Amino acid sequence: MDKKTPAKLKQAYPQARRAEPKPSRAEAEAAVRTLIQWAGDDPDREGLVDTPSRVVRAYEEFFAGYEVDAVDLLSRTFEETDGYDEMIVLRDIRFSSHCEHHMVPIIGKVHVGYLPKKRVVGISKIARLVEAFARRLQIQEKLTAQIANTIDEVLDPEGVGVVVEAAHQCMTTRGVRKPGATLVTSRMLGSFRADPATRREFLSMIGNPASGQLSNV
Ligand SMILES: [Zn+2]
Repeated sequence: MDKKTPAKLKQAYPQARRAEPKPSRAEAEAAVRTLIQWAGDDPDREGLVDTPSRVVRAYEEFFAGYEVDAVDLLSRTFEETDGYDEMIVLRDIRFSSHCEHHMVPIIGKVHVGYLPKKRVVGISKIARLVEAFARRLQIQEKLTAQIANTIDEVLDPEGVGVVVEAAHQCMTTRGVRKPGATLVTSRMLGSFRADPATRREFLSMIGNPASGQLSNV
């Protein structure tokens, strides 16, 4: 049994890695006030007075994933397959995340497929797993790998595939400004990686996003 156990995976993806204690709400609001001033506006004008507290509340929602233990989420809920051994695919799971380089939105969808060996989970759990990792500061490659690795470790399937298609506002609204550009990433493990027919079946079930140009992470 040298395969990584969920307990070990848990160490790899702790809920939150805080080097310092969490700042107070007042400190967070003061930081937003500073950014408003940095943008060139007056944080005391009527329209902006309540903005720091609204932004801090929005951050609680955007980054709620740090409070979720993704491994526990799947571990508590799996069921035995009773011999079901066909591919399970959940496609077009919408998500929004925030890029860790600019803290602006990444908006897109995730497709998840796996070939169960012993365990299956309800589809809502897969969607919540996506949320747990999306609601953190992210890069798309890491988000893709975290979803695939967690399913692989906890459900121990024959194989798993995750494809993420997303638009990055750091590319579309600033920098190179390429609206409409979508980044497609994938991670294939087990039979999805080793068996081209399984991979093709999965890709055709999710509608072959940018087929042939996937960047495997
Ligand atoms: Zn960015």
